[in-house]
Amino acid sequence: MNFAEARQQLVNELIHEGIQNPNILNAINTVPRHDFVPKELQYLAYNNSALPIGFEQTISQPYVVAKMTEVLLKDKSYKKILEVGTGSGYQAAILAQLVDEVYSIERIEGLLHRTKKIFEALQYKNIFTLYGDGNLGWPEHAPYDAIVVTAATNSIPINLLEQLKVGGRMIIPIGEPGHQELQLITKREKSYDVRVLDPVIFVPLKSGKI
Ligand code: SAH
Repeated sequence: MNFAEARQQLVNELIHEGIQNPNILNAINTVPRHDFVPKELQYLAYNNSALPIGFEQTISQPYVVAKMTEVLLKDKSYKKILEVGTGSGYQAAILAQLVDEVYSIERIEGLLHRTKKIFEALQYKNIFTLYGDGNLGWPEHAPYDAIVVTAATNSIPINLLEQLKVGGRMIIPIGEPGHQELQLITKREKSYDVRVLDPVIFVPLKSGKI
């Protein structure tokens, strides 16, 4: 299978679905998604779909990764971004092409161990990972210009809001399974704005680490 060709086809599909930011399209065309999925599913790596990655988790659908990134980065450039839910590492790798530093938290130790090896093999130098509960954020490196949460919750974790810069954006899937929507939060001095975006399907944001 020619991965480069398949990747270009995926980019064409994303353009067709409305993704416009050339930097994001370029990132999708650069990051080898097949390296972030299990060997036996590599032939599906450039389909525009979520795939299982073991540990009962999934790698997000490329369109959703592109869309979340596009909304987050619109008219902004960021130095430091926090991701909650490292999972396969694909979203972090896309972000690493677009911002200076990516901090990413994962609660499943075995999964993070595997994903860190992928980052090493692909020589990402600007992705930093933490084994922990993303509900708590990563205060040592706060405040962040932006935060992306890649697991769904019923309410915005307060620690994440606190660790976001004023004027910074957070994108987060909110709601019960089957009724989730992406929300774009913009932090203000004493409050925050909420914009409701597309309906989505994400695995749940859980508490604690395993
Ligand atoms: N960004 C990932 C998506 C992975 S799915 C990718 O591009 O592949 C969501 C991930 O969030 C899972 O790996 C899950 O274990 C993790 N997760 C769920 N609750 C979490 C929490 N409280 N803290 C950190 N990670 C969490």
